[in-house]
Amino acid sequence: MHLDQSSKLSGVSYDIRGPVMEEAKRLEELGHRILKLNIGNPATFGFLAPDEILLDVIRNLPAAEGYSDSRGLMSARTAVVQHYQQRGLPDVEDVDDVWLGNGVSELIMMSLQAMLNDGDEVLVPAPDFPLWTAATSLSGGTAVHYLCDESEGWLPDLDDLAAKVTSRTKAIVVINPNNPTGAVYPRSTLEGIAEIARRHELVIMADEIYDKILYGDAVHIPMASVAPDLFTLTFNGLSKAYRLAGFRAGWLLVHGPKRNAGSYLEGLSVMANLRLCANVPAQHAIQTALGGRQSIKDLVLPGGRLLEQRDAAVTALRKIPGVSCVEPQGSLYVFPRLDPEVYPIKDDQQFVLDFLTEQRVLLVQGTGFSWPTPDHFRIVTLPYADELTDAIGRLGVFLETYDPL
Ligand code: PLP
Repeated sequence: MHLDQSSKLSGVSYDIRGPVMEEAKRLEELGHRILKLNIGNPATFGFLAPDEILLDVIRNLPAAEGYSDSRGLMSARTAVVQHYQQRGLPDVEDVDDVWLGNGVSELIMMSLQAMLNDGDEVLVPAPDFPLWTAATSLSGGTAVHYLCDESEGWLPDLDDLAAKVTSRTKAIVVINPNNPTGAVYPRSTLEGIAEIARRHELVIMADEIYDKILYGDAVHIPMASVAPDLFTLTFNGLSKAYRLAGFRAGWLLVHGPKRNAGSYLEGLSVMANLRLCANVPAQHAIQTALGGRQSIKDLVLPGGRLLEQRDAAVTALRKIPGVSCVEPQGSLYVFPRLDPEVYPIKDDQQFVLDFLTEQRVLLVQGTGFSWPTPDHFRIVTLPYADELTDAIGRLGVFLETYDPL
């Protein structure tokens, strides 16, 4: 028998866990210690979930043995409704506007599969969180990348965004706070995106999973609050701010006028039914997480571990000749630039592999985030500050003699 993968997978990739990670695993099996700066998984770096959430899940385990409603538990969905009311979104009342999923990832897949016909286009930022591009392709659509501008703090280039709208465009993806750049968008940027969506009658898909991971005076403004007149899908969950990535708990809020979206919402319902329901024990965590003490603040305010680590990463990166970076205002990543005049890298996956082989530190290449040129990479800022400083110092040593040609 000869078994090929489906042609649906051609061009679909997820480099954060891709070939370079396979090489890192191989080296680990040979006994090498690899510092992994590739995945934003807080628990593996010693970030623990709040006890009250864990205790509540344990307490509810006996009630979590069966399937739930395919949209999710009423208590969790009510908590999500209340959360968005408190965040100032108008007209959020109906628990049926909330859908729970096995992480935001599953909801991204479901929402795009329910929406796209073959050849439909989705405007996805470059750089992006690559699941958006992959899920668009898997759903038969085409991800068209709009540029974010590094010289403007990685804010979306609204002219580029507007220029990329075609008659096939269905939706605009907005990732704010952003992975991989750490940008947090001001109201004017969100209004500019909303205006383009309004003009061309596009759906807005707002991925706000880092909405509570903010540094300094950064403020997160929910996209749906800026565009209450537009049909907006907002995605969020427990993986990052509540350090519960392994629970696979996320939600989707449908907001704005639904009168022309009845058929789409039925499709979303079909997608939700097809996967029966989200992991039920983890659904029990949502109410306690949203309603309880927001301990993430302790990590991002002055003296907090995440803030210290962001500062350590930026300081160490800026010491390396030919490396620059925009200081992240939120999220868990930095997306530094390697000056192509100093480092004429043609294949950034090879660069990441070479660094891994020599210094045993795992990064992700910028092209893995749909960035068009091989001159960036991403670091997660989850390790302790001294580990980050050491790893980035090793990058400096590596680059001193690196010959990419
Ligand atoms: N969206 C963004 C921007 C992310 O960075 C991630 C995970 O890194 C996800 C979604 C997926 O989150 P979840 O664990 O809820 O599937």
